[in-house]
Amino acid sequence: MAKFPHILLIYTGGTIGMVKDFKTGTLKTFNFDKLIKHIPEINQLNCTIDSYSFEEPIDSSNMNPNSWKFIAEVIEDRYDDFDGFVVLHGSDTMSYTSSALSFMFENLTKPVIFTGSQLPIGDLRTDAKENLITSIEIASCVKNGKPVISEVCLYFEYKLYRANRTTKINAEQFEAFTSLNYPPLAESGVHLKFNLPLIYQPENNLPLRIHKKLNNNIVLLKLFPGITKIVVETILNIPGNRGVILETYGSGNAPTEPWFIAALTNTIQQGIPIVNVTQCAGGSVIMGVYETSVDLQNIGVISGNDITTEAALAKLMYLLGEDYNLTQIKKWFEISIRGEISESLH
Ligand code: ASP
Repeated sequence: MAKFPHILLIYTGGTIGMVKDFKTGTLKTFNFDKLIKHIPEINQLNCTIDSYSFEEPIDSSNMNPNSWKFIAEVIEDRYDDFDGFVVLHGSDTMSYTSSALSFMFENLTKPVIFTGSQLPIGDLRTDAKENLITSIEIASCVKNGKPVISEVCLYFEYKLYRANRTTKINAEQFEAFTSLNYPPLAESGVHLKFNLPLIYQPENNLPLRIHKKLNNNIVLLKLFPGITKIVVETILNIPGNRGVILETYGSGNAPTEPWFIAALTNTIQQGIPIVNVTQCAGGSVIMGVYETSVDLQNIGVISGNDITTEAALAKLMYLLGEDYNLTQIKKWFEISIRGEISESLH
């Protein structure tokens, strides 16, 4: 390892690097060099920093599996040259991208920290500086010669989270993210305090593997009281549909009406996995607790346990991309493969 940790800053876009277009009044991305000029403080950090910028930085609403693959490849190509990676990304879909990357990277032994901001870096009251500077510090932290973090994380407003546990919960406050089913891995105050027992420790030294085949032919079906038969059947039968994330109520409950259960049964019988994820921000699916989830369990709906919808979508794309069959998808979905599900629940 070099004397100072060597960190790669990857700029993809997002509010952090935006400026107001004087003509239209809308926020648009701008050039990365200008962004770095706004934070001369990063030169005082105990690390050396290189940067890589998307040729055309984007608002994260335009992120998709191809952009995820692109970010993964930027890291893959430079993995041996750097000690840690900080990805600057719009906050809107940051939980989706970072969750996806967590599944795409197998045997990760270096930190990959996603961050961004609610206000552009040039704004007087910006939250960008603290988010960026602390993310770089975290990516540089070493203990006994090894990085303290060796997983994909998201840092925002004084808290470091496991990325695949996060959800954006606020479009306005600086505290934009939460992770209700897993505590923060670190908190930044006067001191940077790591919660070491919660942080993933790589058990082996296997080479990094990147899974790039993601199958996004999936649907997200969110239940609401009054949802009609035609809507449910149409969504489930979209041509080419390969998997379903079903957002249910509470601990995994859904209507017991025969047409609803029949539609789901028909989908599963075609070999299409249906994963039960709760609409609640916190807590877990536990099928069988209420009468309203017994049928789901009996027809073979997969439990998402306490996974977030963001991580469930990414995990399903990843497992389908690996060409697993229904039985294998059920097996892998119901256990934690990147810390996305609480072990004690199964
Ligand atoms: N619309 C922006 C984005 O996600 C919001 C942000 O960066 O916070 O790119």
